[in-house]
Amino acid sequence: MTAQILDGKTLAATIKKEIKQQISAIMAEKSEEKSEEKSAEKSAVPCIAVVQVGNDPASSVYIAQKEKACLEVGMQFRKVALPADTTLQALLAQINSLNNDNTVDGFIVQFPLPSHFSQKDVSVILAAVSPKKDIDCLHPHNIGLIMDGTANFLPCTPGGIVRLLQHYDIPIAGKHCVIIGRSRIVGKPMGILMLNQHATVTYCHSKTTNITEICQQADILISAAGVPRLVTANMIKPGSVLVDVGINRIEPNNPANRKICGDIDFDECAKKAAYITKVPGGVGPMTVVMLMVNTLQARSIV
Ligand code: NAD
Repeated sequence: MTAQILDGKTLAATIKKEIKQQISAIMAEKSEEKSEEKSAEKSAVPCIAVVQVGNDPASSVYIAQKEKACLEVGMQFRKVALPADTTLQALLAQINSLNNDNTVDGFIVQFPLPSHFSQKDVSVILAAVSPKKDIDCLHPHNIGLIMDGTANFLPCTPGGIVRLLQHYDIPIAGKHCVIIGRSRIVGKPMGILMLNQHATVTYCHSKTTNITEICQQADILISAAGVPRLVTANMIKPGSVLVDVGINRIEPNNPANRKICGDIDFDECAKKAAYITKVPGGVGPMTVVMLMVNTLQARSIV
């Protein structure tokens, strides 16, 4: 048996086409409004802003990917670059300015932040972003709405994964979904979204002692640990669905080799699973496109 690929790249391209059409419709509507001399509160073209503090190289690559995707669909992209020694107060002032800027529909603060920001600072920063513009879905208010399934946005990576599974008509209700990782941005919300889809959810993390036995029971296994080839063929159930969130550099100490791999041993696991995502080309493109989906959604919140 060879697993079917869950092709996030192709699905993301299809969603981008839909977004492009929606943006054309918004612009046509805006130009009509202008000719009727109506007040234009929001910018004619939907706009995403990304705040980067410092210049973490991996973050710069991710931001460039977001910018490229925005330009492809005709969305405005604004990068706010702040120096690495930016204080908490200065960052909060920048966030406040974006909250009040009607020409920006949604924005994110790119993580990781420089090391002088504490965990507590991170919580303060996330809570400072207006929930209406929180297109990463990290504000406590939005996280609360995810809990009861009434969120305006879904967090980009977990939301993109649910959309990918649904696109391939993969049943989720009643299935045992095992998630490796419990981060704020991926693992934790992933479990909630799968629970909302009626899966039975188990989390594994760095302190889990019997990870192999737990993974062997997974109908759907989602790995977001950031550990190359953590998931090997002996850990998976035959016929299972494997989703690889990991983005790991194969040679982290060799700047000339930018090749990446996931958390899952693709070659061996693909022989045993029913469905599998690739790295790159699986979850990554879905994450980027969900940011744009959320930006259009943010625009419609009153
Ligand atoms: P993180 O470091 O915040 O969290 C990693 C989690 O994995 C932690 O909860 C930890 O307990 C767990 N973990 C670590 N080692 C483990 C092990 N040996 N066994 C079991 N659990 C272990 O990372 P994150 O931000 O959640 O990202 C995880 C990975 O996903 C990274 O490789 C990151 O680059 C990637 N990522 C990809 C996308 C995408 O769009 N494809 C988006 C976000 C993150």
